Amino acid sequence: MKVYYVIDEAYPLYKIGGLGDVGGSLPKALSDLGVDISLILPKHPSILLDSNWVVVSELSPTYAGQTLTVKVWKGKLPFSNVDTFLIEENIYISQHTDASDNHADKFAVFSLAFSAWIQLHAEHERPTIVHLNDWHCSLIPLIDKHIYKSEQTCYVVTIHNLMYQGITTTPILEKLALPKDACQIASLDGLDHDINILLEGLLHANSITTVSKQYAKEILTEEYGQKINEILALKKKDIVGILNGLDIESFNPATDTMIYRQYSSSDAIVGKLENKLLLQKELGLSSDSEKIMIAFIGRVDLQQKGIELIIDALRNKSLIMEGQQFIFLGTGDQKGESELHESAANISEVRIITRYDEPLARKIYAASDYLLVPSKFEPCGLIQMIANRYGSLPVVRLTGGLLDTVSEGVNGFTFKEYSSKEMVCALQNAINAGKDQVKKTQMIQNAMNKDFSWKASALEYQSLYEKIEAR
Ligand code: ADP
Repeated sequence: MKVYYVIDEAYPLYKIGGLGDVGGSLPKALSDLGVDISLILPKHPSILLDSNWVVVSELSPTYAGQTLTVKVWKGKLPFSNVDTFLIEENIYISQHTDASDNHADKFAVFSLAFSAWIQLHAEHERPTIVHLNDWHCSLIPLIDKHIYKSEQTCYVVTIHNLMYQGITTTPILEKLALPKDACQIASLDGLDHDINILLEGLLHANSITTVSKQYAKEILTEEYGQKINEILALKKKDIVGILNGLDIESFNPATDTMIYRQYSSSDAIVGKLENKLLLQKELGLSSDSEKIMIAFIGRVDLQQKGIELIIDALRNKSLIMEGQQFIFLGTGDQKGESELHESAANISEVRIITRYDEPLARKIYAASDYLLVPSKFEPCGLIQMIANRYGSLPVVRLTGGLLDTVSEGVNGFTFKEYSSKEMVCALQNAINAGKDQVKKTQMIQNAMNKDFSWKASALEYQSLYEKIEAR
């Protein structure tokens, strides 16, 4: 069985959020199980290649009536043995040009180039399964079937976040020279001429996975189904929830060289205190080991991450009390970033840091006592798992993967209602509970010793692949 794992991000080559963590770790875990898997992603402009990467194919597909020049680079995903292919194309994918700002074009070209390349390979290595992730590569089945007349491949499509469906009015079907009735969703949605790229992929999928068991149930409801729950309900038997894992070698406080001082569960209390003092110094916060440090790390996404609750609590000065500090690390929506800065302007023990900074994120996980995760919805969420690995106790809203991974009073704290009042209440209850040093130490042990590796989930993917192959 040959699996091609196609994704937009894979750490450390390219990462914006949790998708990058998954792309950089699941293929590795599957390869360790003996699955013959290759990783494919766009050659983003920021990916710099050393001399270990070589061009293995050159192709000239046509898009929007123009012949494109595509190069496929081959190398290894760093710190692994996974064959990795990067698709380079200089108009839409690999350079910052006006055209590449249109994401529908970018990913249509990426999908076209992938399909063209697979076709070239087909004689000596046809994939048994092409595993597609999110909307970015969801046009691949359509292109395979209608342009390359290829019917033999099976597709797994993983939904990492149903909010992003790649809905576009760009005339991508014409640009791909596909007849309009080739696209199932275009036929369904004849009224407004929008194309829903993710939905097109889902309709072709042999199996649909999503990134936690709870989210697999939630996407079938009106509340979380992002307007396609009824169509998903028709595919219910093909939908399975498989919890994301972590690269526990990379996220390991005992070996992580990005943090100030390494520690493991046996010396976590001392190790975390040292990290706290040094981070306070770096960020110009009061240097005091007694201060309780609360953090948020994540994309500034106003629809998903509960940023409005944090802004509200900062505005009414209820988020932190005397003796507490709050660090926010996140970037994204411009308006959200400025509102965060404004709302924290006169609070001395708060730092709002609006940039992407992997080493700082690691230092915050290591130094903080509590990590706030007030998401409105959360397909899986990795930050609560990473926090656990570093002995920081997550305070989470009970939704999606947060519900599957955090147990009240065991490895974190929880709240239900999406309101800043509930969030603050849960946070302050957590801090009160943590005053009992014995209980807090026990919870840190529980958190650090919990198994968040890919072991179990990679096995689930492997058996899913085998089931599909057998069918
Ligand atoms: P999502 O996939 O929705 O972005 P996750 O919780 O699954 O959220 O994963 C977020 C990942 O991105 C984590 O590894 C987190 O540490 C990282 N991250 C998010 N924002 C930043 C940032 N500003 N700087 C560094 N790392 C970040």
